Amino acid sequence: DEDRALVDGLAPDESGAAGTGPVPVVAIVGRPNVGKSTLVNRILRRREAVVEDVPGVTRDRVSYDAEWAGRRFTVVDTGGWSIDATGIHLRVAEQAEVAVDLADVVVFVVDAKVGATDDDEAVVKLLRRAGKPVILVANKADDERTETDALTLWNLGLGEPYAVSALHGRGSGDFLDRLLEVLPATSAVAGDRPVEGGPRRVALIGRPNVGKSSLLNKLAGTTRVVVDDLAGTTRDPVDELIELGGRPWIFVDTAGIRRRVHQTKGADFYASLRTQTALEKAEVAIVLIDAESSITEQDIRVVQQVIDSGRALVLAFNKWDLLDAERRYYLEREIEREFVQVSWAPRVNISARTGRHTDRLVPALEVALDSWDQRIPTARLNAFLGEVVAAHPHPVRGGKQPRILFATQASTRPPRFVIFATGFIEAGYRRFLERKLREMFGFEGSPIELSVRVRE
Ligand code: GDP
Ligand code: GDP
Repeated sequence: DEDRALVDGLAPDESGAAGTGPVPVVAIVGRPNVGKSTLVNRILRRREAVVEDVPGVTRDRVSYDAEWAGRRFTVVDTGGWSIDATGIHLRVAEQAEVAVDLADVVVFVVDAKVGATDDDEAVVKLLRRAGKPVILVANKADDERTETDALTLWNLGLGEPYAVSALHGRGSGDFLDRLLEVLPATSAVAGDRPVEGGPRRVALIGRPNVGKSSLLNKLAGTTRVVVDDLAGTTRDPVDELIELGGRPWIFVDTAGIRRRVHQTKGADFYASLRTQTALEKAEVAIVLIDAESSITEQDIRVVQQVIDSGRALVLAFNKWDLLDAERRYYLEREIEREFVQVSWAPRVNISARTGRHTDRLVPALEVALDSWDQRIPTARLNAFLGEVVAAHPHPVRGGKQPRILFATQASTRPPRFVIFATGFIEAGYRRFLERKLREMFGFEGSPIELSVRVRE
């Protein structure tokens, strides 16, 4: 329970009904003590209040599966964000900023008995710019008089204030109806999350002639499983279900591999489009590279596409049967030179023709996916960062030295970290932090993202 991860399981654990995308995410933001937790309990229809009369009390969880009128969504209680391992309180506006990034809908709670404070106004500015649906809740409207007072909150420019008593339930029906109105069918932020325990999605990509279709044929061989066996799995006709290492995998968008389109005009354009589509549908990519010929610009571009898409990555060097000692020597030098930026990716040397080491693809995929899913508890992350920063502080620039206050892993798939600092963190130092994160926690096979929020 030392895990106070900001957005514990922000991506919902499973998608909604079969065939739909990830369930949408609703973040509840507002100053301490306005009733965020109470409202969450109201949404969850939970009687037993976990609410304590201490402002900013740390909740043990921050994200919950909710359902209203048959619609499923995830509720994130940012009240759980206010205390962290280092004892630093995040400002409400900062919470809201992160929430806006990570949610599909933001519910902004104001205390109707107090009205809008300066802190509230700061959040309002941010929310008006956010371009996401915001619902303004005037909470603690326990009676008609407060309900009428709440009307002044129209001034905030966030649309209709919903007067609610989270504690007693008054007005909560209207608020929830409104929530369902603005709630998208599937999340645009949670990432494509396949059915838990179902087959994982692999994109087999690489420039023309590296051996994609040969490898696909080799892997599919005799082991292709019947699709209907897997209920609740979204699958396009262009995807193929292949059993490897004792479990099914979905190889996405394989039609393009089998249809040999790459000799035609505009082939490059279509190849990169195909790669992009495949990546969007996949969780992990195998980038196939022809080990016999030199690494090309196009190989590097495909690898970059994987990183940009935030998918896990396995590098497979194919046609190993054709390599002599000299080529192997030069290949290693090329890899060192061209692929430094993905030195974290697992690598397998295979031959689609002979089947050499193709059984090593599955363990590599699994390592990469585990990293992609990995979550570092906030307390551990901050303990680690504290040590790193103490040993190697950010360099002083122009007499100033930004301090790192607090960090949290905002999401997985891929792991995304948000660092709060007192000033601009320069690129070199970010890379240093990323390297240290990898040294400490691994993340083999997964890109990681690091963003910095500056608080004055
Ligand atoms: P949070 O810090 O924003 O999550 O606020 P909490 O949910 O912990 O609530 C803070 C305090 O306000 C608690 O004592 C709640 O019982 C109280 N509270 C929450 N909602 C209402 C409400 O609708 N009416 C009244 N009168 N009190 C409320
Ligand atoms: P794709 O365009 O990436 O789908 O590549 P193909 O699978 O069509 O392979 C292109 C050429 O490389 C074909 O002539 C294959 O027979 C050959 N090839 C593919 N894999 C291997 C391999 O592991 N070893 C050798 N020697 N040839 C291969």
